[in-house]
Amino acid sequence: MSKIELNKRQEQIVEIVKENGPITGEQIAEQLHLTRATLRPDLAILTMSGYLDARPRVGYYYTGKTNTQVLTDELKKLKVKDHQSIPIVVSVNVSVYDAICTMFLEDVGTLFVVDDKSYLVGVLSRKDLLRTSIGKQELTTIPVNIIMTRMPNITVCRQEDLILDVAHVLIDKQIDALPVVKDTDQGLEVIGRITKTNMTKILVSFGQE
Ligand code: ADP
Repeated sequence: MSKIELNKRQEQIVEIVKENGPITGEQIAEQLHLTRATLRPDLAILTMSGYLDARPRVGYYYTGKTNTQVLTDELKKLKVKDHQSIPIVVSVNVSVYDAICTMFLEDVGTLFVVDDKSYLVGVLSRKDLLRTSIGKQELTTIPVNIIMTRMPNITVCRQEDLILDVAHVLIDKQIDALPVVKDTDQGLEVIGRITKTNMTKILVSFGQE
């Protein structure tokens, strides 16, 4: 790697990338209050001389960092809002039988239970429903209300939360999914769902160049 003499602006770029990388050319330009076009020759020199490297869809990073560090930095930036799925909810008044049908029809492993005003009141997992099914009860007459995990014991997340933090919570609490909620004065509005499947998709996307 040939180290060349850098001008002041190039040194500034290296510092920015060291601190914030991986970072896009656009973002570097923004920090320097310059246009992307103005920076292009400097970025070309810095990558050709080996100070910086660039990855498609990731951006520039300082080559003093290992590949793992680059991936870790990228992982730490992921937010719930960019990876969440659509939540499947049932009313607190439906029967266990109806909840089982919804789970099959919607092809999900976790249902969120909401009250008349659509606020979060409970969670139903596959095993919650299975446990009730092996009893000798009439499933069409038992409301989900009596078998669900209920507030305030529900673990939730919010759109701005980091994916890595959510992944830790899923592991620590040994659960498959978290509702993504929006806080309102009256209660928690369910606006999404983050599951182990979302985590697997992220892992796969990191495996693709
Ligand atoms: P399963 O029970 O089908 O393996 P989970 O591991 O997700 O699925 O659920 C385990 C237990 O934790 C269930 O009783 C379920 O109601 C409860 N649970 C699931 N998700 C949450 C959550 N986000 N917050 C609180 N409890 C949950």
